[in-house]
Amino acid sequence: MDVIVIGSGIGGLTAAGLLARYGKQVIVCESHNLAGGAAHSFRRRGFEFDSGPSFYCGLSSDSGLSNSLNPLKQVLDVLGESLTTVRYDPLGHYHFPTVSFPVYSSSDRYYQELAKITPQGAKEFHHFEQRLLPLYQAIKGIPSLALRADWQVIPLLMGRYLPSLLQMLPNLPLVKASVGSVMDATVNDPWVRKLIDLECFLLSGLKPNGTIAPEVAFMLGERSRVGVEYPLGGSGAIIQALVRGLERWGGKLRLGCHVEQIIVKSGKTVGVKLQNGEILRAPIVISNASIWDTYNKLLHPQDLPSSCRIAALATPAVDSFMHLHLGIKADGLENLTGHHVVVNDNQQDITVPGNTSMISIPSVWDANLAPSGHHVVHTYTLEPYAGWKRDTEYEQRKRTKAENLYRALERVIPDIRQRVVLELIGTPLTHAHYLRRYQGTYGPGIAAGKGKFPSTHTPIQGLYRVGDSTMPGIGVPAVAASGIMCANTLVNVRQTGELLNN
Ligand SMILES: Cc1cc2nc3c(=O)[nH]c(=O)nc-3n(C[C@H](O)[C@H](O)[C@H](O)COP(=O)(O)OP(=O)(O)OC[C@H]3O[C@@H](n4cnc5c(N)ncnc54)[C@H](O)[C@@H]3O)c2cc1C
Repeated sequence: MDVIVIGSGIGGLTAAGLLARYGKQVIVCESHNLAGGAAHSFRRRGFEFDSGPSFYCGLSSDSGLSNSLNPLKQVLDVLGESLTTVRYDPLGHYHFPTVSFPVYSSSDRYYQELAKITPQGAKEFHHFEQRLLPLYQAIKGIPSLALRADWQVIPLLMGRYLPSLLQMLPNLPLVKASVGSVMDATVNDPWVRKLIDLECFLLSGLKPNGTIAPEVAFMLGERSRVGVEYPLGGSGAIIQALVRGLERWGGKLRLGCHVEQIIVKSGKTVGVKLQNGEILRAPIVISNASIWDTYNKLLHPQDLPSSCRIAALATPAVDSFMHLHLGIKADGLENLTGHHVVVNDNQQDITVPGNTSMISIPSVWDANLAPSGHHVVHTYTLEPYAGWKRDTEYEQRKRTKAENLYRALERVIPDIRQRVVLELIGTPLTHAHYLRRYQGTYGPGIAAGKGKFPSTHTPIQGLYRVGDSTMPGIGVPAVAASGIMCANTLVNVRQTGELLNN
């Protein structure tokens, strides 16, 4: 075996698939009996639930555009896999306490909707977007598949993508800037500022001052260019495609295979010890577990400089979640749309746990996700991990906390409570347990200007990391990019060049 990957999140599967494609012998060890981590799907009584992501862009080949900028799609392409997706617009509805409005992918239609609420604010939003888009235009010319996490990235990019790099030069100050600084320079309208708060929060889990400008530039540019789409079969279909791609190129996936420890000898990784006592050996180990879990649980204290452990523990973590997964009766809901964001109380900050709820009803795009005459619903909101215990009050606390999610759902489906045929409430403990994540966190809360996401390298020779606690950060495209950067770093530039030429 050349490489062991701990965890089958999208970061782990993209790294493993690419390395298998490069000809390495790869095995992925996944603790859960379902692959996919935060992006896994699970089935109950005929309902197919997404456990996490449902908002996707640039996944299919039928957009009419030759190149997708989504790193996940670039990996699927080289693995020989594709997805069938449903395109939809508006991409969602935002519901504030006094106003609801549709959000369209196309920026022109977005301004038109904004102008109905605040004509001046719509103009300011346009200026805000115009400040960010040149950065997107520059980023767009460099495929994520070319990225790696060492100096060799420089000659590779200069040799192939010089015009895009030159286009990047005047935008360099924006690369490190926060969205907050761009917003302060362009937007006064309080309502539009709140809207930008919400867009940033949905993307990074942070407010504009904490969110980096390239992230929002990319989101605005890309959703207007290619629109949004949902994969038929749900997020599980993405995971199945990645697993098929891995296996097509000779890689292996073991489910229910919990790694207890990374084995280090004389400062080098030599393999892993599984929970069942079995030892797997390989000179390269890639951890898709979070930075907190990798450095604090999977390594012996003596194998890691204590400064690294302390730094890992000090990485700020975004809160965890309350989840409400419902199967509901669909009669009379013919005009229902699939994505909604509800802010319960305008007086409270949108980041206050329970105040902002995300709602996804993917059976409006793929009827096979629910039994006939029914819809499948996933609603979630931030919730701190601290204080949750499986004690005698656990069930009651769960029910009380789920109330915010029901209230949010009532904005979209007023008689939701009468429609429920299946109800699953998840808490931060559920999230931490099924995703094997430290405190069930959404990921690192590293604010713009206050540090950067750690790279794929670790202080231990042969040990690498991928996923949302490495560069470039949280979200499906970002974690796929982390998998690419790690895999490319482990092969030579010529091999990556061959893939790019395909
Ligand atoms: C509710 C929610 C909604 C989201 N919505 C979106 C969205 O719409 N669009 C978007 O782009 N992003 C979204 N995201 C973010 C995105 O889903 C995540 O950032 C991404 O999927 C994380 O992938 P990852 O590779 O970092 O790791 P994870 O998904 O955390 O996977 C890590 C894997 O490692 C396994 N593992 C850990 N420790 C061990 C061990 N010791 N042994 C074996 N296996 C182990 C875990 O079981 C897990 O399967 C959402 C996230 C959540 C939680």
